[in-house]
Amino acid sequence: MSGYRLLPFRFLRFDERRTLVVNEVGEPHFLSHEDFARFVEHQLPMDGDAYLDLKAKQFLFDSRSLAPFELLVAKYRTRKSFLEGFTSLHIFVVTLRCEHSCAYCQVSRVSADRPRYDMSEGTATAALDLVFRSPAPHLKIEIQGGEPLLHFDRIQQIVLEGRRRATAEGREVTFVVATNLALIDDAMLHFFREHNVFLSTSLDGPQALHDGNRPRPGNDSYARTIGGIDRARAILGFDGVAALMTTTRLSLQSPEAIVDEYVERGFSSLFLRPLSPYGFARRSARTTGYTMREFLDFYVRALDHILMRNANGAWLVETYAQMLLTRILTPFPIGYVDLQSPAGAGIGAVVYNFDGDVYASDESRMLAEMGDRHFRLGNVHHDSYTSIFGGETLRALVAGSVAESVPGCSDCAFLPWCGSDPVHHYAMSGDVVPHVPTSEFHEKNFFIIKHLLSLLERDAITRRTLWSWVRNEPSRRAEVA
Ligand code: SF4
Repeated sequence: MSGYRLLPFRFLRFDERRTLVVNEVGEPHFLSHEDFARFVEHQLPMDGDAYLDLKAKQFLFDSRSLAPFELLVAKYRTRKSFLEGFTSLHIFVVTLRCEHSCAYCQVSRVSADRPRYDMSEGTATAALDLVFRSPAPHLKIEIQGGEPLLHFDRIQQIVLEGRRRATAEGREVTFVVATNLALIDDAMLHFFREHNVFLSTSLDGPQALHDGNRPRPGNDSYARTIGGIDRARAILGFDGVAALMTTTRLSLQSPEAIVDEYVERGFSSLFLRPLSPYGFARRSARTTGYTMREFLDFYVRALDHILMRNANGAWLVETYAQMLLTRILTPFPIGYVDLQSPAGAGIGAVVYNFDGDVYASDESRMLAEMGDRHFRLGNVHHDSYTSIFGGETLRALVAGSVAESVPGCSDCAFLPWCGSDPVHHYAMSGDVVPHVPTSEFHEKNFFIIKHLLSLLERDAITRRTLWSWVRNEPSRRAEVA
């Protein structure tokens, strides 16, 4: 064979000087516009640097050897290895009751005195039967609400029964309780310690912001959350509790203060999350909502401040950036359902509602609370494992979330790092397949991915910090400072 042949790749005119090329397994490379034109016209000199770099990264091949294909196949298999385990995350909604009344609540919670919205013992047992039918080697059971501590008996049952079954089958299971911590007490914490249960809580920022976002009787959400975090750390250990924030219109003014709150409280990660178009969040969109452009401005300011705090010795990871950078810089999957293709709804994570209904994702359950049961997969009492996980609803959801077949995504340079969120697309436009030019999901991911690629070139300290996030260990610079 003379000359060279091209292997599959996607490309983007990245800036005035350079074209970004990304191969089929997500490895990026920058070329000058001139070299890119020579590359696709088969005119690159075979002894030049550009040629040798592109050959080493399997953008082209020039012999009869099958080695480049075998390498691409091995890397592609690694990238898609999240498909091997099937559903590993099982979310139990043990009650819809909550004593908070957050305007942005995505759960459509009911007030704390209506126990008919509690999961029964029989429903929890039937849901556990399905959990342990999953072939995933490592199971994760997340217990949430509403506020799950309002139904602590059910938490105990799920943890004790789940642990017993896992031990009997020789399987690993991790438990997480997502709680606002307002009602936590020492007896609960000792139970969690005894059974190795992790906690995840909500912390939206400094006191005024947190209490503004998260009203409850007594207006003391922040004090209770901080008190709960301190007690949980004392009993479970410092890493026994993690925190998440939700961005509201109020948050947009204070990205630096939110970051500082997380650093001062000793957290090692901060996930800058926009509002979801579900539940109370949708109903209160006028007061709590904002455009994606406003969120992205907030995101950039917050990320800059996080990088500055890291450069000065703190260790705080922005979770979304960490996941995307892992996708960009390594071949390994990250297990985040919205950043994979096909999406993980139903095949990576599944939700058991208080009444036994099974949903493909938390978002699809929220849609159902709003009256749209499009993504209900079945019920733990009436449907079999096969009909729930092999039925038409889930098959259609998976088929619609293969980004490689979505118009606009299929030829996007960022596709190997991006994903799909079919339930979000459906909630926004009535179709699981997005209309990319008007999709907020696209607007967010395209902007943040491009911003992260630019940050990787900003300076040595920034690059070292971002790489330390991918390795998940503090950079030497941060330790020394
Ligand atoms: S959503 Fe946007 S950024 Fe993501 S693959 Fe599709 S076109 Fe690319």
